[in-house]
Amino acid sequence: MTQQTQMETIKLSTDVLVVGAGMTGVKAATEIAANGYNVVLIDGGAPADTAIADVEGDEQAALDALLETAKASDKIEMLAATRMDGAAGVPGDFRVWLSGNEDIVEKSVGAIVVASELVSCPMNDAYGLTLSDTVLSQSQLEAALKSNPAAFAGKSIAFLMGLAQDGNPLVLERVLKSVLALENQADTSAYVIAGDLKVAEDGLERLYLECRDKGAMYIKLTAQPTVAQEGSALSITYDDPVLQRPVELVPDIIVVEEAIGADDVNAALADMLKIDMGSMGFLQTDNVHRYPVSTNREGIFVVGGSRRVKKRYGALMDAENAALRVRGLLGDGTIDVPTDKAVIDTGKCTFCLTCYRCCPHGAIYWAAENKPVISKVACQGCGICASECPMDAIQIGDYNDTAMIETVGQSATAKTGDAPTIVAFCCQNSGLEAAKMAESFGMPLPAGLKTVTVPCAGKVDIDYIMHALAEGADGVVIMACHNGNCKSERGSLYAGWRAANAQEMLAAIGVEKERICFATTASNMGADFSTILMDMEAQLKAK
Ligand code: SF4
Ligand code: SF4
Repeated sequence: MTQQTQMETIKLSTDVLVVGAGMTGVKAATEIAANGYNVVLIDGGAPADTAIADVEGDEQAALDALLETAKASDKIEMLAATRMDGAAGVPGDFRVWLSGNEDIVEKSVGAIVVASELVSCPMNDAYGLTLSDTVLSQSQLEAALKSNPAAFAGKSIAFLMGLAQDGNPLVLERVLKSVLALENQADTSAYVIAGDLKVAEDGLERLYLECRDKGAMYIKLTAQPTVAQEGSALSITYDDPVLQRPVELVPDIIVVEEAIGADDVNAALADMLKIDMGSMGFLQTDNVHRYPVSTNREGIFVVGGSRRVKKRYGALMDAENAALRVRGLLGDGTIDVPTDKAVIDTGKCTFCLTCYRCCPHGAIYWAAENKPVISKVACQGCGICASECPMDAIQIGDYNDTAMIETVGQSATAKTGDAPTIVAFCCQNSGLEAAKMAESFGMPLPAGLKTVTVPCAGKVDIDYIMHALAEGADGVVIMACHNGNCKSERGSLYAGWRAANAQEMLAAIGVEKERICFATTASNMGADFSTILMDMEAQLKAK
């Protein structure tokens, strides 16, 4: 069905907005600027150095150098105390509204990188403690160690961690760095009272051992100890797993761990940018197609702490990845795209907004003359809008309705002896690859199997299913991606709903609804593909 594809050259803005001026944001800005693009770097309203307060030693020097590079670059415009108030448009042509000390300014940018940082919150409440001179949060301890480490000489310090929340390598790293700094003071004793000690990060086990060699004591518990705080007097009582009896520790200072999580600002950013939020307030769904730095919208990238809990090294890698993705999109300021990726026949359109609402990639916008327009840069050609449009007003390149109906008809009528004919609509990202795998590994497949490729299961129209059955197919199978792994996020969901509707339509006219099967798979699941199709064949043979 492939025809000569007509291409169109579209001009793109090559300016880039980076939201977040912590270390990851500054790194992203310098990397993008090094590729020759102008960057507007805003701090999102937070002071420029708050997110980098935990950076120490060599890292601090590296950050200082990064900031100097950014300040010195004539390609980076740094706007302090500035946040984004709104955004509109499509990749290559986003408009953003920024507000700071002065008036709201509008900028036009081709891509947006969100680099909100992780935030930490002391967990003293979870341990029944009030922050005081003798009960410190991890951040308070770090600040005190920076300003006057000698004040801790001769003190005993107990760290509580991994008992009020799951163990976390980032939390452990901060604790161990503090322990090391304390052990360098005269006559200090450090106790790390922990639930889970997760050392599965670069250099963490070495740090753990170094602290132990310097005298730190690790007390691993399975339940929270009893912690008492009366004025400045503290005690921690726990069942010692080695001594098999209660033990009381009376430290001079208790340091409570901090929960590390997403910045609250993420929800507002997701709303403004129309990007899907992931779990726990982060800005990336758990979808393999989004890794490492993509969102459901082309041209909007998320890095570091905006997408998950990341160590500094991983966050900086994200910044580099985002710079590569920006360059891949914006190139020299033009992009060649197929003219027929997804085309709206405005003569048929009744302006119902369905396509605008269902496009998972934010590729459809409303033009001034009150009609929907599809951005050829943003559109991923999934076809969800085309199959949802009540007026059949949208056509998708090679997968237009005329071509699809013809292919489906040919597949349904091509008989292989007495074998039941099964038309399997296969998503090109999963079902099609699974089918190829099953075939190349010689796994059993129905003799009458005819695969029909679709760009996404969301392109499988009820009309195609019914046409296959009407033309003589004995059964129809829709092989979609697993939910949560669909490249178009909701394509599998739409396909499942349509399959269920088609089954109801069959049942209403007295035909077995089992002639339609909806299943999900992954590209490496050839064996599952074989099993699902062979089960369908056996079922059809039994009728
Ligand atoms: S879904 Fe179809 S009819 Fe509705 S606005 Fe979009 S193109 Fe027009
Ligand atoms: S084909 Fe998919 S990405 Fe393109 S406009 Fe339609 S729903 Fe959006």
